Amino acid sequence: MVKKSNQIAATTLNKNDLIVIGGAGGFIGGALVRYFHDQGFTRIRAVDKKPLPDWYQRTPGVECLCMDLQYEDNCKRACEDAVEVYNLAADMGGMGFIERFRIECLRSILINTHMVEAAYRAGAKRFFFSSSACAYNVELQKDPNSRALKETDAYPAMAERGYGWEKLMSEMFCQEYWAERGFETHIARFHNVYGPWGTWVGGREKAPAAMCRKVIEAKDTGSDEIIIWGDGTQTRSFMYIDDCVKGVDMIMHCDELIAVPINLGTSHLISINDLVSLSEKIGGVTLKRIYDPDMPKGVAGRNSDNTFIKQILNWEPDTPLEDGLKKTYNWIEQQHKDRKAGKKIVD
Ligand code: NAD
Repeated sequence: MVKKSNQIAATTLNKNDLIVIGGAGGFIGGALVRYFHDQGFTRIRAVDKKPLPDWYQRTPGVECLCMDLQYEDNCKRACEDAVEVYNLAADMGGMGFIERFRIECLRSILINTHMVEAAYRAGAKRFFFSSSACAYNVELQKDPNSRALKETDAYPAMAERGYGWEKLMSEMFCQEYWAERGFETHIARFHNVYGPWGTWVGGREKAPAAMCRKVIEAKDTGSDEIIIWGDGTQTRSFMYIDDCVKGVDMIMHCDELIAVPINLGTSHLISINDLVSLSEKIGGVTLKRIYDPDMPKGVAGRNSDNTFIKQILNWEPDTPLEDGLKKTYNWIEQQHKDRKAGKKIVD
C-alpha cells in the first residue's frame, strides 16, 4: 500500500481533474506544466501575464491564458473549476533583481492574496504556494559556514527585505486559510532552483545560469576573465529543476504537510568560487577572476536543512550539482548560439 505521505497527483487525482498553474510562462511553472502533462493529465490551465511568445516553455494541448494575476477578477477566471491550484507567479529574479526591486517583489503579495481566495471560492481541493529560503531570518545567514536552515528558523522573523517578507506574509495567508476556513494549502520554501529553460540572461538570472553564461561568453569572445559578484565566498545550495517539480508534487499531496512550510532544496553547500570552478571545468577553461564588491551578493551563507523532508517524505532532492549543471550549461550554450543567429531565446 502507498504510504499516505508518499501520495502524488497520479495517485490522488483523476486524469481529467483541472490543474491550474500560475506563472506557467516562467521557469518552474513551465516545468510543472510539462511534468503534469507527461503524466497524462488532460486538463491543465497555464496562466501567466507575459504574452504567449515570451513563455519559456509551451506544452502542446495545454490551455494557456495570458492574464495579470495581480487582479482579483483575473484570479477568479484563472481558478474557475480548478481541482488544484499551483501559484508559481511572482515578480522575481536572482540577487541582482531582488536587491534592487523590492517594491516589485512586495507587490507579488497581490497575486498570492487573490489567488488563494479565488482558489478557495472556486472550491478547489488544494492550493500550492511557492515560498523561498529568503523567508528565513537573515541574522542566521551572516557567515559562509552558517548552519543549514531548518523550518523553524523563519521565526523570530527577520526575512530578506522585500522579497522575503512577501513570501513570509503569503505563507501566513496560506496557513490561516487552513486554520480558519479549512482550505488545504501547501507551502514549499525553495532553495535556488536551476536547470534548462530557466532565465539565463537579462538581469533576473541566478548564479548557476549566470556562471555558465559567463564562461560560455568568455570562450566565445576569447576573453580570459570572469566577473564575480562579491568576493565569491558566499555559499548556497542549488536544486535541479526535475527535483523541484517532483518535490512540489509530493509536498502538495502529503496530508502531514497541510499548511506546514517545508524546505525544498539540496543540502549540498557550495561557494560561488567553487560554482565558478565547476562551470569552468564543464566549459574546459580556466579564467582570471575579477571580483566586484559593489554588486549584489545576498546573505553570506545559506543551506537547506533536510531533516524534516527526509523524515516526512523519505526523500530529498538528489541530482548531483555537476550532472544538473552540465545539462544547464549545454542548454545555455545552445541558447547563446541561437541568440547570435538572431533566433528567439528564453530571456
Ligand atoms: P520566473 O520569473 O521564471 O517565473 C515567474 C513567472 O510569473 C513569470 O513568467 C512571470 O511572467 C509570472 N508573473 C509575474 N507576475 C505575474 C502576474 N502578476 N500575473 C501572472 N503572472 C505573473 O520564476 P521561477 O524561478 O519560475 O519562480 C517561480 C516561483 O518560485 C516564484 O514564486 C519564486 O518566488 C519561487 N522561487 C523560485 C526560486 C528559484 O530559484 N527559481 C527560489 C525560491 C523561490
